Amino acid sequence: MHISDEVYLVGGGIATCFGLSNDPDCHVYLIDGGDELALIDCGMAAGDSLERILANVRAEGLDPAKITKIIVTHYHMDHAGGAARFRERLGAEVIAPAGAADALRTGDERAVALDVAKAAGFYAQDYRFEPVEVAREVREGDRIPVGRLELEVVETPGHCDGHASYLLQGRDRRFLFAGDAVFSGGRVVLQNIHDCSIQKSADSIAKLAGLEFDALLPGHAAICLDGGMAHVATAHKACASLFVPKNLGA
Ligand SMILES: [Zn+2]
Repeated sequence: MHISDEVYLVGGGIATCFGLSNDPDCHVYLIDGGDELALIDCGMAAGDSLERILANVRAEGLDPAKITKIIVTHYHMDHAGGAARFRERLGAEVIAPAGAADALRTGDERAVALDVAKAAGFYAQDYRFEPVEVAREVREGDRIPVGRLELEVVETPGHCDGHASYLLQGRDRRFLFAGDAVFSGGRVVLQNIHDCSIQKSADSIAKLAGLEFDALLPGHAAICLDGGMAHVATAHKACASLFVPKNLGA
């Protein structure tokens, strides 16, 4: 799905909104930097999801062989569980927030809360987290080139540790890829897992509320092409009132 000259939505399960790939994939975005493409998150690669995502890239007239980077927002399986398979299939390098890299490399199911997510029925009991080599760890302010474009790293822990959002200046818009830090309507996903923190989430939302951008492109639910800052401001206002913003799906 064409979002702009530089950004496409190429994956995401039905549960997450668009049905471009299999559940429980998050939104999978493609950045077109000309001679280089990159994915923001890649979903879980369950069933034929990987092939569906690559077919969506081709349907946009783009060549999946030009995907050189898989940039993940955080280590939850619906965002990064398929990274090993995508890396192997595409020969692309995986780029992750520094705080997420160890868990991705070791496939530590407890660190990424897969143990409790399985117990809660989010994932199949026999699902195994495939470890993946992380080529580059990124931190606050780092830049990630994608062809003629460049992403800026904004560390946004709270939903979990090792979570980053990414800013991209496009020709007509500035995009915020927010992962699971904040969603349309100022909603959040705060879960009963070991590394979820209301205070860190509020700090991250306050940081995002201070940024300039047009489009809010989160990991699930509605995407906002313009006026994205208003959605973050709604979440920020709730936090500033000492309340927790509404949870997505609640
Ligand atoms: Zn998540």
